[in-house]
Amino acid sequence: MNHKFIKCKNCGRIMKVAEDAIEGTCYVCVIKATDIPKERKAKSSNKLRGWKFMNVFVDEEGNVYHKGKIQLELKGTLPQTEAKEIKKQLNKKEKEKVKRQAGAVIEDLKKELKELNKIPRTLSKRRIIEKRIREVSKILNGNFKDYEKKLKVF
Ligand SMILES: [Zn+2]
Repeated sequence: MNHKFIKCKNCGRIMKVAEDAIEGTCYVCVIKATDIPKERKAKSSNKLRGWKFMNVFVDEEGNVYHKGKIQLELKGTLPQTEAKEIKKQLNKKEKEKVKRQAGAVIEDLKKELKELNKIPRTLSKRRIIEKRIREVSKILNGNFKDYEKKLKVF
């Protein structure tokens, strides 16, 4: 096929086209034109890590997602999801780690309780420890709510 040189209809850059072409767009303008979806993609990856797995996620524009799926009718109905809310979502490995920590904390609390049992007038202190054991035990049962607070050593 024969070629000819014409000016890009957008920017005037000289470019090679097939002889029968009437007009054309140069590669620079083509790249510029395809840049738009790229930008959009970069924007969506701007969302917080793990957002697709959240039951409800709200981005900075107020778009509401249920497990990564946009819910158009809910736009603007909820406050933006904050990073700290996502941080609480633990993966399987992290959950195992937290459970091990919880187990260790319970061990220590039980030891403390045993010591206190030998000391008179420590009932209120013992009650506090018993309560903590119950709270931390919830983690072992798979309830990770406020786990950071529960595992904090006083
Ligand atoms: Zn051009």
